Amino acid sequence: MRVYDLIRRKRDGESHSEEELRFLVGEFVAGRMESYQMSAWMMAVFFRGMTDEETGWLTEAMVASGDTVDLSSIPGVKVDKHSTGGVGDTTTLVLAPLAAAAGARVAKMSGRGLGHTGGTLDKLESVPGLRVNLSAEDFLEQVRRIGVAVISQTGSLVPADGRMYALRDVTATVDSIPLIASSIMSKKLACGADAILLDVKFGHGAFMKNLEDARRLARSMVAIGKRLGRKVRAALSDMEQPLGTHIGNALEFREAIEILQGRRADSALAQVACELAAHLLEMAGLQADLSAARAEAARLIRSGAAAEKLRELISAQGGDARVVDDPGLFPTASHMEDYPASVAGYVASLQAETLGRAAMVLGAGRLRKDDPIDHAVGLVLHKRLGDRVEVGEPLLTFHVNDRSQLEAARALIAEAIAIADAPPAPRPLIEEVVS
Ligand code: URA
Ligand code: CA
Repeated sequence: MRVYDLIRRKRDGESHSEEELRFLVGEFVAGRMESYQMSAWMMAVFFRGMTDEETGWLTEAMVASGDTVDLSSIPGVKVDKHSTGGVGDTTTLVLAPLAAAAGARVAKMSGRGLGHTGGTLDKLESVPGLRVNLSAEDFLEQVRRIGVAVISQTGSLVPADGRMYALRDVTATVDSIPLIASSIMSKKLACGADAILLDVKFGHGAFMKNLEDARRLARSMVAIGKRLGRKVRAALSDMEQPLGTHIGNALEFREAIEILQGRRADSALAQVACELAAHLLEMAGLQADLSAARAEAARLIRSGAAAEKLRELISAQGGDARVVDDPGLFPTASHMEDYPASVAGYVASLQAETLGRAAMVLGAGRLRKDDPIDHAVGLVLHKRLGDRVEVGEPLLTFHVNDRSQLEAARALIAEAIAIADAPPAPRPLIEEVVS
């Protein structure tokens, strides 16, 4: 078998065998396939696509390129969740303690924020003292003991993905559904959970800009998981506007706490997080059906059990759990400033990606992988799509430390928000669930 022939075959629109894909990934990781050859092959995949079967085999070959997490020493059903990245999307911080309080075992590896999207690890690190770099033994021990751990992915999982992604990033081959699906699913499968819930965002702030692409990605990922014997579901959720009201690391953590304490029950983030939790509990077999699972999630929030599980999670990872009851212990910005509406009407656009970029400009996010971030800063939205506003009413509040960034942030806000004479058609929070 020669790498050259495989590139040519994909270029000509042929399908690969399982053996060919294993060979390709193996040669690449071993350094016997040049990066320009992998780039050329991925460009061929971009144009020619892959069957579900090929995508599954590629994913398996990627998983086999590194270590995998063995969760078999943890009793109970192990669950995992992945969001495809959004803005003001704090579902993990709500879902992980909530699902653990309901009896699921949540062994979760998360990522950092990049560009306009936030990352769970950065939000977690806004809690004073909290560590996300646990050893594999400590990770497993914590899940056995309290039912939940959220840590950073170790470098030894799916090395093929890191190296393929770096090439995709500079060769315009990121936006390929089989390559995205295998990238995400290889990491989820390597983490070893029995049940995986995918939250595929679509809309302005998401990777997938429209419902059709999100649906294709969701179906591809669900098919991969099923082929490899896992329970997988994918919710298609709206990211035309930010999901939560808070954008920025400590700010988002504070919003998650309010939801776990039952103080924001009808907010969009609370509704989506509880719906996702219900799916996880049903998939894990902990609740008989979705309506029982929804009721259980609501009960755990009302009783304080979900917030208590968050305190346990924070303490177990070395953080100061008093933040749950005293948000003043989070890093806070030195300056707050409202952004008022200049006309009256209805909020007609609230572009998630541009709002995410405004928070990034204030220091909440990073442009490059190693940029530092400021956990305290960001913005808090006071309106959602369709809300009525009057002239001078605050649309949002900036939380800033470096006021020299405010002007750039204001310019982005002006671009992100439109006010019209009539409200736009309402959009469902979760469009559909693929299983
Ligand atoms: N996230 C991933 O992990 N991989 C992709 O290819 C795209 C988004
Ligand atoms: Ca996320």
